[in-house]
Amino acid sequence: MAVILDGKALSAKFRQNIKEETSALKEKTGKAPGIAVILAGDDAASSVYVNSKEKAAIECGFYSVVERISADVTTSDVLKLVEKFNNDEKIHGILVQLPLPSACDEKTILRAIKAEKDVDGFHPYNVGLLNIGEDCLMPCTPFGVMNMMADYGIDIAGKNAVVVGRSNIVGKPIAAMLLKANATVTVCHSKTKDLSGVCAKADILVAAIGKAKFIKKEFVKDGAVVIDVGINRVDGKLCGDVDFEDVKDKCSYITPVPGGVGPMTITTLMQNTLKAFKFIEKL
Ligand code: NDP
Repeated sequence: MAVILDGKALSAKFRQNIKEETSALKEKTGKAPGIAVILAGDDAASSVYVNSKEKAAIECGFYSVVERISADVTTSDVLKLVEKFNNDEKIHGILVQLPLPSACDEKTILRAIKAEKDVDGFHPYNVGLLNIGEDCLMPCTPFGVMNMMADYGIDIAGKNAVVVGRSNIVGKPIAAMLLKANATVTVCHSKTKDLSGVCAKADILVAAIGKAKFIKKEFVKDGAVVIDVGINRVDGKLCGDVDFEDVKDKCSYITPVPGGVGPMTITTLMQNTLKAFKFIEKL
C-alpha cells in the first residue's frame, strides 16, 4: 500500500506557520495581509469555495473582504471592483472567483488585476514569469502539489513526470513547475495516442482531467508517485480522476480524494497572499 499524501494534515501545518508569520509581521508593522474575493452570481460550488477562502483568511489573521454581486453584472461592473481593490492599500491579494457569469469577459477582467496582487497566478505577466523560471505568484492548485511533494521529500530532478490535462489552471502550470524542478516532463491531453502507455512510463503521474476514476492500474508504473487533482461527484460522493482502490498497491505515494490536493489549494492561496503582502510592503 502506498504512502498517503495527507493534504489535510499538511495544510493544517502550513496554515499554522502562516498564522505565526502573519502575527509576527503584524506586531512589527501594524499591518496585516489583506485579501479581496469577488463572487458574481449564485453558483453553489463557487459559494462554498468562497466561504472556505474567507474562513481560511480569517483563521490566518488576514484582513478579508468578500464582494458578493448579482449574476446580472457586466464586465464594467466587475472591472470597477477590481480597480477599487487595485488601489486599496489594505488589499494585497485579489481573486475573482471563476466561472464568471457569461456576460462577463473573463480575460479582460483577469488582466485588469494588478500582477503583484494576482494571488491566483492567472495574469499573463505571472504566467510568463513562471514559464521563464522566475519568481512570481503561481497558481494555487499546482503550487500546492509541488509544496506537498517537497514536504514529503519526493525527489523530482531527473524523474519522468507525466501530466494528464493541459488546462491553464492546472496542467500547463504544473508542467512548468515540474520542468523548473528538473523533471523530464510530458503533457498529455484528449488527443494523446497510447495514453496508458505514456502514463505507465511516469515516475510522477499527475491526473488533472475531470473524469472520475479514469486512471487505472495499467496507467501506473510500479512505485510511481500518483497525484490526483480531479474532483468529481459520483452518486453524491467525491472521487478523483484516479481509481484509488485499483492503483493504491502499485504506487509509492498517492493523494486521496477528498483530503489530498484539495485542502492544499486554499492554503496555497493564503501563502500567495502573504507573499504578495511581503512584496508590496517591502518586508
Ligand atoms: P479542464 O476541463 O480545463 O481540462 C481537462 C484536461 O483534461 C484537458 O486538457 C483535456 O484535454 C484533458 N482530457 C479530458 N479528457 C481526456 C482524456 N480522455 N484523455 C486525456 N486527456 C483528457 O479541467 P481542469 O484542469 O480545470 O480540472 C481538472 C480536474 O481537476 C477537474 O476534476 C477539476 O474539478 C479538478 N480541479 C481541482 C482543483 C483542486 O483544488 N483540487 C482545482 C482545479 C481543478 P483537451 O485539452 O485536449 O481537451
